[in-house]
Amino acid sequence: MIQEPELETLAWEDRLRRDGQRYREQVGYLFEHSRFYRRKLTEAGFAAAADVGGLEDIAELPFTEKDELRATRSEADPIGTHLAAPIEEVVRIFSTSGTTGLPSYIPLTAGDLDNWVRTSSRTYAATGMEKGRRVVSTYNAGPFVAGAALDAFNRLGVCHIPVGTGNTERLMTAVQLLKPQMLVLTPSYALHLAEWARDRGIDTAGSSVERIMVAGEPGGGEPAMRARLEEAWGAVVVEAMGIGDISVSLWGECEARDGMHFCGQEFVHFELIDPDSGASLPVEDGAEGELVYTHLRHRAAPLLRFRSRDHVRLRTGTCSCGRTAPRVRCIGRTDDMLIVRGMNVFPTAVREVVNAFAPAVSGVIAIRPKAPGVKQEPPLPVAVELAEGHEGTPELAERIRKRIRDTLVVTTDIDLVEWGSLPRSEYKSKLVERS
Ligand SMILES: [Zn+2]
Repeated sequence: MIQEPELETLAWEDRLRRDGQRYREQVGYLFEHSRFYRRKLTEAGFAAAADVGGLEDIAELPFTEKDELRATRSEADPIGTHLAAPIEEVVRIFSTSGTTGLPSYIPLTAGDLDNWVRTSSRTYAATGMEKGRRVVSTYNAGPFVAGAALDAFNRLGVCHIPVGTGNTERLMTAVQLLKPQMLVLTPSYALHLAEWARDRGIDTAGSSVERIMVAGEPGGGEPAMRARLEEAWGAVVVEAMGIGDISVSLWGECEARDGMHFCGQEFVHFELIDPDSGASLPVEDGAEGELVYTHLRHRAAPLLRFRSRDHVRLRTGTCSCGRTAPRVRCIGRTDDMLIVRGMNVFPTAVREVVNAFAPAVSGVIAIRPKAPGVKQEPPLPVAVELAEGHEGTPELAERIRKRIRDTLVVTTDIDLVEWGSLPRSEYKSKLVERS
């Protein structure tokens, strides 16, 4: 079902034209209300909103990095100088789990929050959520942006059964007793859950679950991973993706299952860039690069050209579902990327190649770089976990090594490890292990 048909089926060129006007208004708002952007844009040579121009000139503007926002925080400005609305108008402050100690805060006005819920509702409607469906979710919302996503479940009228992570038994009981049609979780957890159930003689393939929406990390779009999940659960797998600083659920995969549609019309503009040079890339079928986002109608803390670090492959053109927005598959996080003798290597891409060796392998891998930092010398050490009851042979390791070299042009050192020896996750998998 299309949540906002008029908006989601508008020709994409018309969409961009309309968003162009909103963009100019947003830039005007920033000059007036955001100390952070007034300073940043002035320093970049844009003295006033009129100098910035329209969306067609957006590539002239500097990027915004998360660290820059963090650096403007002080006792007087606990959120940062990008806070652009009076604090009295802020109705929600989410946090991101800061890997560097202090969390980052994400403030929203009532209007911002509503825009997020509308965007998430479009996204989840695309993934098949609708009134009458029972949906078990494993989001640990708490202080995190996922809380806003749960508001979208209410708006769509699904029967929401929140169980959170950390209690697999409770989750499986809910599946067995309440017979939900849909599960919402990370791909890592979906896989872990299927293994967990198999060990206990529970038939997940024969359960009531018809559809699994995965989010939170890349993986649900990798064909081999998807096939494994679909087989284990006897269900269709679809994906959703968002980004806390911009909008919680911004991309949702429809029944055509050819990538996730952009669902942030009127609120967010996206671009594609080359992550190394920062050069703007054309939004065209087959393009690959990092997503960069710009708010169009935000009030509390609007961002311009915010670097997502999400590396995607783009699909354009009309989709059989009727939506006109481009679709993406997330290939990996630029943050996790390694460079081996000049070649960019995404850990998720290594996993995808390894997964094709199922049923001999379990689908769990760990890359164990020898050197600190991004740049690595070949061979790159990769631990590949065998499936239960499967023996590792030098011949299998050699076939995996060769396939990775042929597909990703990187030389690896494959260490086959026994089933169950690599960690499982109820949330996101860590594919790179540094000693
Ligand atoms: Zn579609």
